[in-house]
Amino acid sequence: MSANTTTNPPDYVFASPLGFHARNVQEFFRHHPTPVSSDPERRQWATPDSYQSMSAMFLSAGDTPGAAVMTNLFIINKSRDVDRICPSCHRIYRVGEGPRAYAFFDEFLERPRGGGGGAVEVEVEVEVDKKTMEEQDLSGACCGPCFNALSEEDWGENGCEGELGMLLELARKEGFVFRRARMGEERETGVKNVWEKEGSGSGGRAS
Ligand SMILES: [Zn+2]
Repeated sequence: MSANTTTNPPDYVFASPLGFHARNVQEFFRHHPTPVSSDPERRQWATPDSYQSMSAMFLSAGDTPGAAVMTNLFIINKSRDVDRICPSCHRIYRVGEGPRAYAFFDEFLERPRGGGGGAVEVEVEVEVDKKTMEEQDLSGACCGPCFNALSEEDWGENGCEGELGMLLELARKEGFVFRRARMGEERETGVKNVWEKEGSGSGGRAS
């Protein structure tokens, strides 16, 4: 295990200036499971009953592979203290973490645990504003644009606030564009928003 230094992320993950995103949520989670919370309110989301009812809810919008992904994401995000996968762009993060590009996947996986949502193992600085952090905790949406894509509510005139907005702007300057997923992509993967290199046209899918 130690002989293999992971420079590039595995197939089930893709990188953007915001961090790493799960291309295949089930596969990511199989390799990197996160602990269920000890808080009874959060734990109750991780029961078979909860899975059944959430699955029925997401499937009511259409029996697509994306519906199964959304069910898993919802259960994961609700039952974990701080570990989240954004249901919109599939960014892998912890509550309180802002977007950040990492050089290595290993470096990302081994970053210190922390955040604003409890079960903090080390104090790490909260990198997002209060409103964003609350949304990260509640819905798992990682930033304003992702929240907008999920809810159709308007986050604010710039779609994002404060430092997070500046980082998103930086990503744009690096030539990454933020777009809504095409219908086929969303049906297949559950991804609603995609960060992609301008002109690449590959989206969040394995090619
Ligand atoms: Zn997101």
